[in-house]
Amino acid sequence: MTTTDARTSGARFSVEDSAEEAAFRAEARAFFASVSSRRTDADETGNYFAMADNDPETHARHVARNQEAQRALYDAGWAGITVPAEYGGRGGERWQERIFRQEQARFTVDTGVFAVSLGMVVPTILVHGTEEQKHRYIPPMLRGEEIWCQLFSEPGAGSDLAGLTTRAVRDGDEFVVNGQKVWNSGAHHAQWGALIARTNVDVPKHRGITYFLVDMHSPGVDVRPLRQATGVAHFNEVFLTDVRIPAANVLGAVDGGWAVAQTMLMNERNMIGSGGMGIGFGDYLRMARELGVTDDPAVRQGLAACFVRTEIIKYLGARAQAAIRSGKQPGPETSVVKLNASLHSAANGDLGLQIQGAGGMLAGDDAFRRGMFQQMFVGQWGMRLGGGTEQIQRNVIGERVLGLPGEPRPDKTLPFSEIPKNG
Ligand SMILES: Cc1cc2nc3c(=O)[nH]c(=O)nc-3n(C[C@H](O)[C@H](O)[C@H](O)COP(=O)(O)OP(=O)(O)OC[C@H]3O[C@@H](n4cnc5c(N)ncnc54)[C@H](O)[C@@H]3O)c2cc1C
Repeated sequence: MTTTDARTSGARFSVEDSAEEAAFRAEARAFFASVSSRRTDADETGNYFAMADNDPETHARHVARNQEAQRALYDAGWAGITVPAEYGGRGGERWQERIFRQEQARFTVDTGVFAVSLGMVVPTILVHGTEEQKHRYIPPMLRGEEIWCQLFSEPGAGSDLAGLTTRAVRDGDEFVVNGQKVWNSGAHHAQWGALIARTNVDVPKHRGITYFLVDMHSPGVDVRPLRQATGVAHFNEVFLTDVRIPAANVLGAVDGGWAVAQTMLMNERNMIGSGGMGIGFGDYLRMARELGVTDDPAVRQGLAACFVRTEIIKYLGARAQAAIRSGKQPGPETSVVKLNASLHSAANGDLGLQIQGAGGMLAGDDAFRRGMFQQMFVGQWGMRLGGGTEQIQRNVIGERVLGLPGEPRPDKTLPFSEIPKNG
């Protein structure tokens, strides 16, 4: 099916591959088939629990396997599809990246620990980095050697990220950083962090922030894992005490970090919304068949709704793809994609338990597929909050996509030091 869309400059889009896309897909699929096998339910479950295992040795093995897989992609010329060849990438286009990721999700080549590095940090450095920074930081990520984390949120600054209070004070050729970050995914296995901190309190809050590239092994960086409701320690608190960062590690301009952070956040929303959906419609249908409940009218309704949502997300993806092919960077429309992915994960969380009936109350090895669907149910809020909450996505869509009047923001023009604060 083909249609047009005013918001993609009238670009025609189709959910079917064009001849060029189909050829690229076949090439990518043949590559994955030559180095790995098709992902099965058992692989999916095993990978989920390896990723979720808090035992340091199991976790280290999982990270090492991801690094090996990323290195194999690099050696075969498939790392960094859109990254120019001079920085170690394939020099391809964004639509190819999307197809490549879709194909990768079908096979047992897992590089999930590089999600922040490759999906968020690389595109940000490409837009805002100096030549020296691009050459220094991008190739080791593509080779699977250096893993990055995002050090943005703080206990008092999540949705209102620009209200952050971590301070960076210049001292000669360095900045000295003090403060606390929180919810930092993968910081416990990251070598580098993308940090935003306040460098100027005398200007409005968005204008006094700087974006730094921080070595996570610097003295004064203290990473403390946080355990979630699922039992998994996926993210961390990061305390920064007199951490010295060379001025050469500023990305973009001093006090100009908000624009750099926005590039990263747009890429984050795009990645969350368009990435493999993890467990998908086929998994729910298979579970319903295995448990013999496909005749249950409520289950049928749930499956039909899941299928419809999956199709809508496919169309949103095709629209994003059309925009990308016409040369656009991801914009505020990524909030539409992120919001839909959030709502999908919420409804799927319910569906996974509904299909199991009373069995939905079981956990661990007693439950269907070792309780993976129960984990997905409990973990859904992570997906819905991370990368910006549903309410915030709705605000972005209202204001920046639909052009509705903005929320009152009396603190937008006040110098940060004059904004009333708690305590
Ligand atoms: C799984 C996961 C991974 C994450 N990974 C990272 C990471 O790697 N690095 C990082 O820096 N951060 C990370 N985060 C943090 C994430 O970005 C924040 O949780 C998110 O931005 C929300 O901020 P908050 O938790 O402080 O909630 P708050 O901002 O305190 O919001 C609380 C509630 O109020 C609502 N709300 C707030 N403001 C408004 C408003 N203006 N209008 C309407 N409603 C509003 C919110 O929608 C929410 O429901 C992660 C979070 C999760 C869950």
